[in-house]
Amino acid sequence: MSRFRFELIAVDPQTGARTGRFHTPHGVVETPAFMPVGTLATVKGLTTEMVRQTGAQMVLANTYHLALRPGADVVEELGGLHKFMNWDGPILTDSGGFQVFSLTALRKIDDHHVVFKSHIDGSLLELTPEQAVRIQEQLGADVIMCLDECPPHDAPPERLRQAVDRTTAWAARCREAQQRSDQALFGIVQGATDPEMRARSAEGLLKLDFPGYAIGGLSVGEAPEEMYRTLDATTPLLPTEKPRYLMGVGKPIDLVEGVLRGVDLFDCVIPTRNGRNASAFTSQGQVKLRNQKHRTDPGPLDPECACPVCRQYSRAYLRHLFIAEEMLGPILLSWHNIAYYQQLMQNLRLAIREGRAAAFREGLLARWNESV
Ligand SMILES: [Zn+2]
Repeated sequence: MSRFRFELIAVDPQTGARTGRFHTPHGVVETPAFMPVGTLATVKGLTTEMVRQTGAQMVLANTYHLALRPGADVVEELGGLHKFMNWDGPILTDSGGFQVFSLTALRKIDDHHVVFKSHIDGSLLELTPEQAVRIQEQLGADVIMCLDECPPHDAPPERLRQAVDRTTAWAARCREAQQRSDQALFGIVQGATDPEMRARSAEGLLKLDFPGYAIGGLSVGEAPEEMYRTLDATTPLLPTEKPRYLMGVGKPIDLVEGVLRGVDLFDCVIPTRNGRNASAFTSQGQVKLRNQKHRTDPGPLDPECACPVCRQYSRAYLRHLFIAEEMLGPILLSWHNIAYYQQLMQNLRLAIREGRAAAFREGLLARWNESV
């Protein structure tokens, strides 16, 4: 695993927020970092050139979706995901487990495997930990994930414990199944919002000595405070010298709260999904572009944003695109939202280096609340 190195540059003594560099075979990721989600090997609506211009360094693709369409063998035959989607930077793929649990009609799960119905054609499919690794080796991302079981956030204690133990057992099988040495396989800590279960999960995974650890099973319906409390209990369990990835989170405030609790990597569909729905994240808080008050506004979407959208188009024009249902609207707003997330992470990295991470959060909250 010598092609992967996580270098810590600064840790904020007050909060535990960290900034560092994650070295991968396809380049360096400055952390904390936000990875735009390219579910089907495309960040919806954006070319890779546009994604690059936002400052994004690493992107995520979904194994479940790509395994169904176009198929991992097709991607492999075409030279792997980097070449297939024309992204030469680092890529992370998930294991497919989360989609199997959230998107499909589950037929059966036991210690051996999970059997589910495809959400596309209803065909019956199987996923084992070994297959999850094999598929991700075919796709060829830099960081790959163990197959885990993500139980509902309100699962009863016995069910939760079973999912945690199964996740640990599957992680050992994934570790064993891994053949490629140019991919970093991350373990996933589960345990919902129960600190004891999180500790049990982390303890089991740490014995397997993964090059990085993810925190799964959050932002799945629990209250934000519960998520923050769970992070408070979980990140201290993870090794300082390895990257920590909070899966599927979240809104800008969740990123800030996660970073202040020592998380290094994030991904979420929110900036692109909201962008497609005329909802923008800005330095002044959320902006709903369909609102009548933007109809003749010649000003930029966010006066503090340096992205091409804010430099070149007015709020009035962006609103017009959505009202007229032009496809450029969702494209431009997704572009800005991703750029906003990248600028937020860049500002956080700087604040951590300068020892003012907590003050940075207070400043953001004050401005967001002011504009509501
Ligand atoms: Zn912008």
